[in-house]
Amino acid sequence: MTAPRTVACPTCGARVSWTPESKFRPFCSERCKTIDLGAWANESYRIPVVERNDEDDAASTAEK
Ligand SMILES: [Zn+2]
Repeated sequence: MTAPRTVACPTCGARVSWTPESKFRPFCSERCKTIDLGAWANESYRIPVVERNDEDDAASTAEK
């Protein structure tokens, strides 16, 4: 028998068994996964709001 591989949770550093049972690996828990993804999302999940202007649409349609 070989000892199960473990990894360190990127969020809290806890040892996580690298097994199919560890659903959130490399994180130790859903919470740590959410925290990490949340940090990422706060950095780069800002989608610029594109304002649809109905008047412009109507104008360009009318040109044709
Ligand atoms: Zn953790």
